Amino acid sequence: MSVTWPSRMDHDTAPYWKGLQEGKLVLCRCRQCRTWIHPPRACCPACWADDIDHESPSGLATLYSCVIQPTGPGRSPEVIGWAELDEQPELFVVAPISDVEIDAVPLGARLLLELRERDGVVLPAFALMAEHES
Ligand SMILES: [Zn+2]
Repeated sequence: MSVTWPSRMDHDTAPYWKGLQEGKLVLCRCRQCRTWIHPPRACCPACWADDIDHESPSGLATLYSCVIQPTGPGRSPEVIGWAELDEQPELFVVAPISDVEIDAVPLGARLLLELRERDGVVLPAFALMAEHES
C-alpha cells in the first residue's frame, strides 16, 4: 500500500494523521483543563494553555447534523456527518456515515467510529450503531 501523507500535515496535526495510519483516532486534549480539541490546535481554546496532550476517544458519538455530498457520475451520494463525540459537547468529527439512507438521515442516531482507507489515506468514518448496541 502506498501511503500518501495529507499535504496539510504540520507540527500540530502530525499526531492526528500518524494515529490514523496506526489505526486509531488521536485527538488533542489539554493537559491543564482536560478539554478535548478538534481540529488539532497548538493552544487550548478553553484555557489558552499550550500544554497539549494526545488521546484516543471512545469512538462513540451522536449524529448532530449532516450534508449530502455528490460523489461523481454514476456513484451514490454520500452522507457527511457532524458526529458529536460522547467525550464532550460540541466536540465534532466530520466524516462519512455508512449505511444511511440518503432521504432519511437519522439525526440523533448513535454512531460508532470506524476507520476507512481511501486512496492510501486512512480517514475516520462512522457507522450507525445497531439498536441493541446503544
Ligand atoms: Zn485547557
